[in-house]
Amino acid sequence: PQTKPLRKCFVKLVIIGDSGVGKTSLIQMFEHNKFNQAFKPTIGADFSNKEITLDDRVVTLQIWDTAGQERFQSLGSAFYRGADCCVLVYDVTNNMSFENLLNWKQIFLTKSEPREPHTLPFLVLGNKSDVDEGQKKISEKEAKKFCNENGEMLCFETSAKNNVNVEAAFQALIARVVKRQ
Ligand code: GDP
Ligand code: MG
Repeated sequence: PQTKPLRKCFVKLVIIGDSGVGKTSLIQMFEHNKFNQAFKPTIGADFSNKEITLDDRVVTLQIWDTAGQERFQSLGSAFYRGADCCVLVYDVTNNMSFENLLNWKQIFLTKSEPREPHTLPFLVLGNKSDVDEGQKKISEKEAKKFCNENGEMLCFETSAKNNVNVEAAFQALIARVVKRQ
């Protein structure tokens, strides 16, 4: 039987947020199904490619993670340029990392200069959801409210450590990007 050819598309994704929230761990889990407890603030490459299939599309997903420059707010414009979507990460045990999300969003919008900033897909991840309830500072309800009030951003609590919601969150984001292209 004749099958419809798959459409190819390219998506650039950048992941930002305060140092230590788990950005690199989330990417490691999403790409390689691995979690490293050891703190490794830097990784070699600027970006990595992952191919995923979604409905009738083959998506080449190019993921840009920082090599630790977020501590000095010194990410160059090459990092942001041409991004199709943005992942904003906070740590559910760290109030400051949550409060900084809007700064990160603003930096992203300024530096990436998207043609249609109002429809650019954002994904907010509250990472380290595996911690004890007592350590948690930001509730899921509060995060959802924040996401709705700031441009209908997608919102998930994740654990890179226990591989909770990682795949689902990225899939939801890519689906939104692909729909827009
Ligand atoms: P980045 O600076 O945002 O890239 O953060 P990393 O991925 O380097 O993670 C910082 C620290 O948080 C490391 O010690 C990780 O092992 C830890 N970490 C990352 N994700 C999780 C998680 O989901 N749960 C817990 N408990 N720790 C995590
Ligand atoms: Mg990192």
